[in-house]
Amino acid sequence: MKQISRVDFDEFHTPNYCPQNKVIVSGRGSYVIDQDENEYVDFAAGIAVNCLGHCHPELTKTIIKQSNKLWHTSNIFINEPVLELARQLTEATFAEKVFFANSGAEANEAALKTARRYACNQDSNKTEIIAFHKGFHGRTFFTVSVGGKPEYSDGFGPKPPGIKHLPFNDITAFETAISERTCAVILEPIQGEGGVVCATKEFLASIRSLCDRHNALLIFDEVQTGVGRTGSLYAYMQLGVVPDILTTAKGLGGGFPIGAMLTTDAIASALTVGTHASTFGGNPLAASVANTVLSIVNNTNFLTSVKEQSEKLFLGLNEINDRLDIFNDIRGMGLLVGAELVEGVSETAQDLIRYCFSNHILITAAGPRTLRFCPPLNIEDKALEEGLKRLEHTLSNIKPTRNT
Ligand SMILES: *Cc1c(COP(=O)(O)O)cnc(C)c1O
Repeated sequence: MKQISRVDFDEFHTPNYCPQNKVIVSGRGSYVIDQDENEYVDFAAGIAVNCLGHCHPELTKTIIKQSNKLWHTSNIFINEPVLELARQLTEATFAEKVFFANSGAEANEAALKTARRYACNQDSNKTEIIAFHKGFHGRTFFTVSVGGKPEYSDGFGPKPPGIKHLPFNDITAFETAISERTCAVILEPIQGEGGVVCATKEFLASIRSLCDRHNALLIFDEVQTGVGRTGSLYAYMQLGVVPDILTTAKGLGGGFPIGAMLTTDAIASALTVGTHASTFGGNPLAASVANTVLSIVNNTNFLTSVKEQSEKLFLGLNEINDRLDIFNDIRGMGLLVGAELVEGVSETAQDLIRYCFSNHILITAAGPRTLRFCPPLNIEDKALEEGLKRLEHTLSNIKPTRNT
């Protein structure tokens, strides 16, 4: 096959991405291979998407089987895999109803629209959405406006009104802001793109009780934290707080696009016939893969192994830091881990991603100063150790300046 490169990308693709300079052609487990047959350890998993690594045999088998059976019906007709998936998701969580979409942004779009409709049915002035600085909820115009990075939503004309942004983990600011006009509060239990910042249990408990007092819906965006990423099926299960609406995507299809919004019967009743829809949402091909993902991930032994690999990753990163003194914080939960660079490092996280890539390890950034590690949940010890070795080798060439 003809060698393609970044030059071709720049020639034919819209310029809104800045990808690495080599083309990835295949993957297996926690490794991927580029066109020159270099093998990379994957600590990125396609941004917390490939939760079972690349080309997991069970997922490949499922997709081949379903692709010989039924690809698409639209929502005018019912298909089997989507009902099975809705059954699995409701049995495994607080939810009683599921709406299917194709991405995280679409799942959040559905969540926000549902919350608005539910509140407007009671009081047409109850429209305010509370969200948090550095939160990320996707790139549709509603979700990106709700997200806490104005630079992502500026420059596209008038934004949807009725959205208020507050500092994350600030209970006092929240108590002051919430009112009878608040329709919903949306947050990530761990801010992913915002730097792998965990919500404190006190913050979440306070939000839950004030939402109840003001009859506002609590939406957990678990697009990144869901499907076993934190060591439980969903992060809320470890945090002592149950949301009213939960969104899930990324890992749900193990690399196949699918998203979902989970909620209760009472809230779902706001979505009467015709109020919302998606042509591809509930697609049998996507749903069949997600069924297999869930049947593997939602298992006590599997989730225990995520916690074990998490401990090894934290330990490895802390050992690297003991030797290199390059991070001032290593934080996160399960296999969603952020390592923030000390001030004296002049390189950005993006620079380090590039250096790691040339040393054959895939990582991502979470903000300008934080490296993010979100390997496949089933990463084996050998890949974990090899990745940490290559990471240390890369970081050992970085020399932070110290003004002590
Ligand atoms: C990735 C992400 C989204 C957006 O998902 P897309 O599939 O890119 O639309 C939304 N919320 C969170 C927390 C995410 O990490």
